[in-house]
Amino acid sequence: MCSFDFKKVYGELGAEFCEVHHLKKLADAEKYVETTLSDLSVVCSNCHRIINRTNSMKTIAEMKDMLLLGK
Ligand SMILES: [Zn+2]
Repeated sequence: MCSFDFKKVYGELGAEFCEVHHLKKLADAEKYVETTLSDLSVVCSNCHRIINRTNSMKTIAEMKDMLLLGK
C-alpha cells in the first residue's frame, strides 16, 4: 500500500517481514470463515493499524488515495 520496505529500514531483521490484512472484516462474520490468499492483502504494520481504525474499513484502493506520501 505505501511501499514501506522493512529490510531497508531494519536490515536483515526486517527481511521478508509483513502483515496481512483481511479484506473482509472478520468481526462482521456471523460464523467461521475460511480464508484464502485472495482474501488477504500484504500491508505494513502502520497501514494495517490505520485501515482497522476506519469505521467501515476502507479498501486498499481507498487507503492508497488517502496516503499523503508523494503528494
Ligand atoms: Zn504502509
